[in-house]
Amino acid sequence: MAEERQDMLRNIFDLYVTKKGNLNVTKFVNALEQMGLKKSDGRLEPFMTRMRNFQLAPAKGEEIAPIMPNDFAQLIGDAEELIVKAFSGNLVIPDFSTFKKTVTDIYEELKDFKSGNPADYIPQLARADPNLWAVSVCTVDGQRFDIGDIDQTYSIQSTSKPFNYAMALDLYGNEYVNQYVSAEPSGHGFNEIVLDVRNKPHNPMINAGAIMVSSLVEAEMNTADRFEYMQGIFRRLAGDLHVGFNNSIYLSERSVADRNFALGHYMHEHDCFPQGTNLEKVLEFYFQLCSIEAKCDSHCVMAATLANGGICPITGDKVYEPRSVQQTLSLMLSCGMYDYSGQWAFQVGLPAKSGVSGSIIVVVPNVMAMCLYSPPLDKLGNSAKGIEFMNRLLERFNFHHFDSLNHAVQKINPRKNMMTIEDSNRVSLFFAVGAGETGLVKKFYEKEYDFNAKDCNGRSVLHVASASGSESIIRFLIEKTEVRALFQQIRILPNFSSK
Ligand code: GLN
Repeated sequence: MAEERQDMLRNIFDLYVTKKGNLNVTKFVNALEQMGLKKSDGRLEPFMTRMRNFQLAPAKGEEIAPIMPNDFAQLIGDAEELIVKAFSGNLVIPDFSTFKKTVTDIYEELKDFKSGNPADYIPQLARADPNLWAVSVCTVDGQRFDIGDIDQTYSIQSTSKPFNYAMALDLYGNEYVNQYVSAEPSGHGFNEIVLDVRNKPHNPMINAGAIMVSSLVEAEMNTADRFEYMQGIFRRLAGDLHVGFNNSIYLSERSVADRNFALGHYMHEHDCFPQGTNLEKVLEFYFQLCSIEAKCDSHCVMAATLANGGICPITGDKVYEPRSVQQTLSLMLSCGMYDYSGQWAFQVGLPAKSGVSGSIIVVVPNVMAMCLYSPPLDKLGNSAKGIEFMNRLLERFNFHHFDSLNHAVQKINPRKNMMTIEDSNRVSLFFAVGAGETGLVKKFYEKEYDFNAKDCNGRSVLHVASASGSESIIRFLIEKTEVRALFQQIRILPNFSSK
């Protein structure tokens, strides 16, 4: 196995080797970025720094120190697993470039889509620029893509609810939490003054339930510690990407909070809260959690932590127990999109949560999360553009949780299938052929890789070599009998034979 790993590393190195035999770092890093792995990724950053420092300490007479195969193997350290996974085509979305292209196309299609208005019941939210538009993707392997106004910060509003709920489940378990908040769609608006048959809030995704959850999480801490604790959780969920606090949103919301106070008092009247709850402090905590600030990319990584069963994909930090995530996602699927939740589960079929600032987080379990940000809301309070984006994305990809039953509809499955060693060799071979790496192709031949294999588009090695215009590889291939057979089969002129 160790030998196989070494071979893998050497093969990767050989793909980006310069004529002088050292690593072409720029090309190598670009290839990683193509696959969706950013150099700033917490799992790669130390390796990137080691390479930079190594290059900056050249021997006398050299401008930069060349990275040779042995140096590469030494410098790679902890990043080895991820890099081998990436180059052997084993990331969860192996063809990330094509996926990115579709996301970009839909993003562009919707640039001029105009529908709805920003929320106006919180004065500060009403001032949002309706043209802001951003989309982020983060897979469970930490492949990331962001497009649009990704430097824009915004308050996460109701999208904080699933994260707070997951925390309560993690700390106290469902049996305890369920004594205070049910798990039933309400069929009412998100801030309606109504309780279920048990006189409990219907679910934690609407205001009453979320206010209840705010009374549970670390209730014995003082207010400052409590906020710091939860903000720390959000930072870990976001893998240390931007998480802030928007004080003006907080003050603005608190100043017009009659409805949420009314909800609180109504629940208090019905004895819903744990004993000793200070209602005013609970509401303040709830407003603070809604005023946590993110950018589309950090918000997306938070959701990707849910997609990944509670482990942040870009740091490997385990934030929640998988069971809490499973329970949270179940409620996001049935209750996450306000009064549109049923229609959403029917049409999109994925756990999601929206917030009145115009963001929607969507989770494709075990694959990825997306975050869509566009402030104008439809009549039900969801980002109008975000909903339209997901409808269009779901026309192309089989992400709906029952899509596997629907063979009549031709949708793309961008996920990797579990790869065998042969699959992974095949990917390496086609990668080398496509990149015109003759030396590597010869080496694979010696190692008896299957040269009769087809790539995912049904093309033979000879097709790919011809398409990439690598004459030396074509010559090498047609010297080999099994490829010659194929060569005859596809009737390429026989006079182009070996010298
Ligand atoms: N802070 C908002 C409120 O309580 C959150 C509502 C939302 O995003 N749906 O009214």
